[in-house]
Amino acid sequence: MPAPFATDPVTHEVTNQVPPLVDYNAYTQDAVLVAALDREGGGWATGEARALGATVGSAAVQEAARLANRHTPELRTHDRTGHRIDFVEYHPAYHELMRHAFGAGVHSFAWTHDRTGSHVARAALSYLWNQAENGTACPTGMNYSAIPLLAKTPSVAREWIPALNATHYDPRPIPITQKTAATIGMTLTEKQGGSDLRANATRAQALGRAEPGEPYEISGHKWFCSAPMCDAFYTLAYTDKGPTCFLVPRSLPDGQRNRFFIQRLKDKLGNRSNASSEVEFNRTFAWALCEEGRGIAAAIEMIHLTRLDFAIGSAGLMRQALTQALHHTAHRRAFQRALADQPLMRNVLADLAIESEGHTVLAFRLARACDAARRGDAEAALFERIATPVAKYWACKRAAPFVHEALECHGGNGFVEEHVMPRLYREAPLNGIWEGSGNIVVLDVLRAIRRNPPALAALFADIGRARGNDRRLDAIADRLEADLRNTADIETRGRSLVERLALALQGALLVQHAPHAVADAFCASRLDGYGGHAFGTLPSGLDLSAIVERARVAAA
Ligand SMILES: Cc1cc2nc3c(=O)[nH]c(=O)nc-3n(C[C@H](O)[C@H](O)[C@H](O)COP(=O)(O)OP(=O)(O)OC[C@H]3O[C@@H](n4cnc5c(N)ncnc54)[C@H](O)[C@@H]3O)c2cc1C
Repeated sequence: MPAPFATDPVTHEVTNQVPPLVDYNAYTQDAVLVAALDREGGGWATGEARALGATVGSAAVQEAARLANRHTPELRTHDRTGHRIDFVEYHPAYHELMRHAFGAGVHSFAWTHDRTGSHVARAALSYLWNQAENGTACPTGMNYSAIPLLAKTPSVAREWIPALNATHYDPRPIPITQKTAATIGMTLTEKQGGSDLRANATRAQALGRAEPGEPYEISGHKWFCSAPMCDAFYTLAYTDKGPTCFLVPRSLPDGQRNRFFIQRLKDKLGNRSNASSEVEFNRTFAWALCEEGRGIAAAIEMIHLTRLDFAIGSAGLMRQALTQALHHTAHRRAFQRALADQPLMRNVLADLAIESEGHTVLAFRLARACDAARRGDAEAALFERIATPVAKYWACKRAAPFVHEALECHGGNGFVEEHVMPRLYREAPLNGIWEGSGNIVVLDVLRAIRRNPPALAALFADIGRARGNDRRLDAIADRLEADLRNTADIETRGRSLVERLALALQGALLVQHAPHAVADAFCASRLDGYGGHAFGTLPSGLDLSAIVERARVAAA
């Protein structure tokens, strides 16, 4: 028999654990975001950003996000008596999150405020919401992106646009004429291919006149349809003239259910609060949204806005991971010091901070271009045509390694599901897949370069605004221009070119607008020869403390 303990063996005195980061303001306490919103013309929406920043940082919303991702949606295809209902049941926390996001206008602020900078203001709301919960950021992004395409078909737009822009989220599966607000999804991808939309096999048949705004019937299968409880969906189907874009409502104009069949829900790596489904159309009612055969061009216009939203969203996701890493390492001690004060950890944090700021400034610059383009600025339209896929590619490509590194800053605690980091980690790769996977987005940049040379000139004009401020930036811009003039095997070199375009754009913005410590570290590590492949490889001689302090969520 072992001898009994002389003292109480219980070891549950908790020391050196980090308090949760709750009830902070993700807007007012983020110096980079406050400056970006103001600089790019959305400063008049500070009140809305402040309110949403408090919501995002609140313990209540963090708990709702945890619950909505823990208790994932379930499909009920039939009711008790055998009737098809095609209903997805969500945890109440999901609806609570949707009420917050739609209530704040994350989906519609740009369209409901006819004022210069409204897309920048909306970018701030989306950037913030992507720090709260990403499953609900799918429907907010879709509602935002859907409006311009819908507006081209007035007979449909008249009823749908006010409902899509409304802020009183209404999850009831009833006709939109009876709802306080509506949501819209998109289902283009089929089994045989998502990138190559011309491979779609779904067919459409006009019920009367073959014109935009007129009714059709659609039959076919879609392999991915996220947020399937939306009130309507954009889809692509073939007529004899080629792929055509349609709006499929969940309810028919007479109030009956449309023939929209959810086959099953996907068991996904991340984005788990958001249902993603496979759906079947079987003589399903739809309205055409474009001339027959013009569907790809119509869809691309919408996808352009979803790509902007993913550049913003991935920047927001990285900001949340950085915020968590900064918080943890400020409180956790090892070897007699706070982790953040260990020189090697300081390098990691500073490297993450400049990465985050680079994506943030580019996302907001892009939002301003989007805003100006929609107000008739031709130069801005050229710039956003090419800079949007550039920014989407690079933000999405960096999100996964970024979140991985931020997770590692937490040690074992970051790997445990009670912490938000595992959720961010699972989320990080997704924006790099949908709305054009990495290679597809690179091909889009190359297409813009080939078909629209003034767009590339507009991009270099933007970089050129910083000329003379930093020799490393000037050098990469010159080298890039030379590399782009050489069109031999340009597709093979595509990723390298687009990556460097993104870095040059970010560098130019940081050199002009960020503190010297940030811009200097960015240029030294990203634009000047070998920069190291892991985070935490910033060269010596930089002001790492200043960089980390700037990124820290400041005391309220
Ligand atoms: C969680 C989730 C939700 C989704 N929700 C929706 C939704 O709501 N609606 C919807 O329509 N879709 C949705 N999708 C589908 C998504 O848009 C597609 O997965 C994506 O477009 C890629 O298509 P694919 O899966 O068919 O891959 P593929 O087209 O087979 O591509 C596979 C890979 O090959 C690359 N590739 C393709 N062509 C080329 C080329 N020419 N050169 C070099 N590389 C190439 C791609 O970049 C990709 O990396 C969702 C996907 C996920 C993961």
